[in-house]
Formats: sequence, structure tokens, C-alpha cells
Amino acid sequence: MRVRQAQESAGRPENAVTLLAVSKTRPAEDVEAAYHSGVRDFGENYLQDALPKIEQLQHLADIRWHFIGPLQSNKTRQVAEHFHWVHSVDRLKIARRLSEHRSENRPPLNVCIQVNISEEPQKAGVNPAEVQALADEISCLPGIRLRGLMAIPAANLSAQEQHQTFARMRVLFTQLQSRFPDMDTLSMGMSEDMAAAIAEGSTLVRIGTAIFGPRRYNRPQQ
Ligand SMILES: *Cc1c(COP(=O)(O)O)cnc(C)c1O
Repeated sequence: MRVRQAQESAGRPENAVTLLAVSKTRPAEDVEAAYHSGVRDFGENYLQDALPKIEQLQHLADIRWHFIGPLQSNKTRQVAEHFHWVHSVDRLKIARRLSEHRSENRPPLNVCIQVNISEEPQKAGVNPAEVQALADEISCLPGIRLRGLMAIPAANLSAQEQHQTFARMRVLFTQLQSRFPDMDTLSMGMSEDMAAAIAEGSTLVRIGTAIFGPRRYNRPQQ
């Protein structure tokens, strides 16, 4: 499919890029269908929306749930209990709480630092200049494992601007890797900009619309 094509035309090795299917607002049945077509990684933004799905799909033993939305401190306990990954860590307080709440008898929770790469005033994420310091602090915490960086660039960029933005992420990621060699995840690229992200070194693309079709936010409450 498109991820594989973009990977190939960018000259990236096979399986260099993981597909994370963003299943926010989708029913568990859609997740299960994607699972049976081979997807193992699923992304959710809203804890209350995700928990019933996670519960309902417990029989899929090797499924991996990624929390990719804004994370408030009062949600960290449940996120640490139910997810395998968190992509949206942007301050030490959140990382500390995830670390405290991750059970000792489970593998560490995988985390990425979210970077506000377009430096937009209202946007989540740390500024590029603050990434190193936060990574140093997070990497010392037990129960969580820092895997890399995540970014959501500004909307409506031209293709050239997308490339430039993702290239800045790649530079940050490479700098971080020289300090933490086992860091392996650069989470960038969505339905509209995955080709540019893959060309610039993404290792994981987060795709919703291009897999499941347009989202329906105003669905009736169940
Ligand atoms: C919704 C969302 C996506 C997927 O976006 P699409 O445009 O539907 O592919 C990816 N990442 C994050 C953080 C999201 O919130």
C-alpha cells in the first residue's frame, strides 16, 4: 500500500516504517478488521473512547495500543496501565507520573517526546531547543523507556515546507541518537503528509483517514 510505495521511492529499506493505524472515533470492529489485515499498532487520542475498545479486544494478544493525544496528569495512571506506548510526552511531570504508575511486573512503557516543530504558540510539544534537556531527565526514569520523538507539523504546509519541517525533526532525532544510541523511533507523518515524512526519515507513520475514511465526531453517544 501507500506506506510501502513511499518507502520504496524514498530508497528506504523494507520495513523501515511501521504503520500505526489511528483508530480514534472508530468502533472496535474496525480495529479488529484492520488487525486481521495485518496491522498490530493502533493509536488513540481519547482515553474514555479507547478503554472500552482495549477491553473488548483483549483476545488479540499481540495488539499494541499507542496513546497519541494530549495527556493530562489525571489520566496518566490509566494510560500507564492500559497502553504500550505514549507519543505525546511533553513535560517532565507527565513522564514522572507515567513512570510511577507503570506496574513493575510489566515491560517498560515506551514513550516519545512530542516536539512543537513548527513552534506554534498554542500547540502541544516542547520547543526544539528543549528536547535534549527533557530527554536527559526522562531517560533516567524507571518503568518507561524513551524511544524517540513525535511531531505534528503546522497545517496547510506546501510539500516543500513539509519536507523542511520533517528534515528538522530528523536532525533533532539524529542528535538525540548520538547521545542515546538505542533510540529508534521517529513518529511523524499522517494521511496528508506521509510521503514527505517517510522521505525525511520517519520510522512510524500515524494514519487515520487514509485507512478508515473520514471521521465522524458527532456520532450518537452509546
Ligand atoms: C488524528 C491523528 C492522526 C491521524 O490523522 P489522519 O489525518 O486521519 O491520518 C495522527 N496523529 C495524531 C496525533 C492524530 O491526532
